[in-house]
Amino acid sequence: MGTVSDAHNEESGKKVTVVFVLGGPGSGKGTQCANIVQHFGYTHLCAGDLLRAEIKSGSENGTMIQTIIKEGKIVPSEVTVGLLQQAMEECGNDKFLIDGFPRNIENREAWEAVTGIEPEFVLFFDCPEEEMLRRLLGRNQGREDDNIETIKKRFQVYMESSLPVIEYYDAKGKVRKIDAAKPVEDVFEDVKAAFNSITDKVAP
Ligand code: UDP
Ligand code: MG
Repeated sequence: MGTVSDAHNEESGKKVTVVFVLGGPGSGKGTQCANIVQHFGYTHLCAGDLLRAEIKSGSENGTMIQTIIKEGKIVPSEVTVGLLQQAMEECGNDKFLIDGFPRNIENREAWEAVTGIEPEFVLFFDCPEEEMLRRLLGRNQGREDDNIETIKKRFQVYMESSLPVIEYYDAKGKVRKIDAAKPVEDVFEDVKAAFNSITDKVAP
């Protein structure tokens, strides 16, 4: 009782709603998630932020995570799924935006095996690489992976490993694709439409 997967269990009467927010590095996931939190009351869990917090905390996995992030590669699933699950359990909310995860098919399978939670839908921010590059180089958040060498590797990992996750959910009819190259406010209009299409089902 009390675990995330229990909460999802039909018999318990509670249902945890999860929306995966996917898209390349610099596609605007974090920016739009902040808007969604304000407007729709979700809790935003950014997998990358949880991993960066783990590095800062000085945990035993910290050095390994730091090396992987610097190389633009993907942290082992058990680490990321564990951090997400812990964050969900610690938080009283029942609606979560999971940003930047699952990043590969193995992440997705590990998530399903551990939590049993099927996402309500997948918000996919589609953005041309040149625009993502411009944003990443312009944002200056002091991130160790926002340099041109690491960015190139992140783009490659995204194309090779993360796009197949989007294709997997697309085949299940779960992807809401958003043109993320537009100005922030215009993108949010499209994002709102995607969320309203699920809330309309229950709203009066
Ligand atoms: N990362 C990972 N697994 C995840 C999420 C992030 O390994 O589920 C690592 C990966 O190395 C990635 C980095 O954390 O390049 C930064 O991720 P974040 O989502 O913060 O960056 P974004 O791609 O959204 O700019
Ligand atoms: Mg991000």
